[in-house]
Amino acid sequence: MPSVALSPQILAKYEPVIGLEVHVQLLTRTKAFCGCQNHFGSEPNTNICPVCLGLPGALPVLNAKAVEFATLASLALNCQVRERSIFARKNYFYPDLPKGYQISQFDKPIAEHGWIDVPTADGSTKRIGITRLHMEEDAGKSIHDGFADSATRTYLDLNRCGTPLAEIVSEPDIRTPDEAFEYLTRLKEILLYTEVSDCNMEEGSLRCDANVSVRPRGQERLGAKVEVKNVNSFRFVRLALEYEIERQIEVIEGGGSISQETRLWDANEGRTYSMRSKEQAHDYRYFPEPDLPPLIVSAELLEETRKKLPELPEARRARMISEYELSPKDAHTLTSSRAFADRFEAAAKTAKNPQRVANLLLSEVAGRLNALGLEQDRSPVSMAGIVQAADLLDEGKISSKQLKQLFDVCFEKGEDFGPVYEREKPEQITDAAAIEKMIDEVIAANPKQVEQYRAGKTTVAGFFVGQVMRASKGQANPALLNELVAKKLGG
Ligand SMILES: [Zn+2]
Repeated sequence: MPSVALSPQILAKYEPVIGLEVHVQLLTRTKAFCGCQNHFGSEPNTNICPVCLGLPGALPVLNAKAVEFATLASLALNCQVRERSIFARKNYFYPDLPKGYQISQFDKPIAEHGWIDVPTADGSTKRIGITRLHMEEDAGKSIHDGFADSATRTYLDLNRCGTPLAEIVSEPDIRTPDEAFEYLTRLKEILLYTEVSDCNMEEGSLRCDANVSVRPRGQERLGAKVEVKNVNSFRFVRLALEYEIERQIEVIEGGGSISQETRLWDANEGRTYSMRSKEQAHDYRYFPEPDLPPLIVSAELLEETRKKLPELPEARRARMISEYELSPKDAHTLTSSRAFADRFEAAAKTAKNPQRVANLLLSEVAGRLNALGLEQDRSPVSMAGIVQAADLLDEGKISSKQLKQLFDVCFEKGEDFGPVYEREKPEQITDAAAIEKMIDEVIAANPKQVEQYRAGKTTVAGFFVGQVMRASKGQANPALLNELVAKKLGG
């Protein structure tokens, strides 16, 4: 944190302006402009060829799958896809960029004018504009540590050269670090649903740079902006922005001015530090890539791609909230990944009461997983197991108490519900006379509740069901018990 803690009054005088640039690696089998494997974790410098090394005479050929994925992402982000976009060379020297330039897009990107809606603190939503989505290729990787002589040498792994990227640039619409966090969370979720990227931040397949400036509230003109790089989690983006906003306000309040520069986030120290003065677009000497023709996304191709769009997370949540009568929070849990939501819905469809499957999953199963600190994919009880349990409960073949006991056994032994139920098949009292006898005893012992019931407070029936269930050690057939309690009290 900045050396001097700023008072809330001083912080409130300024408005932060934040824009985000996100790079995502596209999950194509091969690279953007050659046939080399696009694969993380291969032996260094094994997935390379004259094209991605930029050797003389080698010519790039555009990967159609990369275009499909960039188009799909553009549509999912509500962008307008340009029919004719242009690849451009972005020239700069870096040891892990053997060509001396990156093939990118400049003034005619594949898509523009998109948006993402994010939730705000007051419960409403805010629309964050997306300026553009453009295609480009990744550079290689410089490895500064991990070798015996790392203190004096840097190693290069060029496997990443030519990996297809989509760069997604937001409008400077974001006003708080929380909004930035929400935007990134939504963006990642949408990209994962479209399956164009695995968005694995640890492996670098999703990377984020943040542009941030502050200005006195009410001022139209933007302050000098600082780009924060090297932030490898959304939580760190939020922390880096919080730090950077306070730092800039402190500089201005102290009579100084902010210089346009690139700063790096140091997660260990919890601060940013200056890396270099920020380069301008003209420093890169962009010009149209002479080795590639204009990229044409025809109306037909666009329609074909639109058909491949899955139901997106926000729409899916809205539908599931009404279909399964879920709370927004529960809908979030069930749609946390497309694969999980798919598995849930496929299973729920086969159950007698899909809503009960949702309830069991969210309460009984999720509760036990939380207690053990396990992720959903480590659950011993499968979706089919939950469906079976829900159906048995619906048919009155087990009571909810028995269900809890069976789930306990599943989690203790790491077994699915099916085999546990077959083995332990809980005893059930289905003898009406035996149940009636227990009901009579409970009625005799609770005259006050009987009076209340007969005075019209029919919800008291639940009290009697509960008492008898307890007396039967959870073994009374629930359907029969409910029926008999109503009959006895009514009579
Ligand atoms: Zn190659």
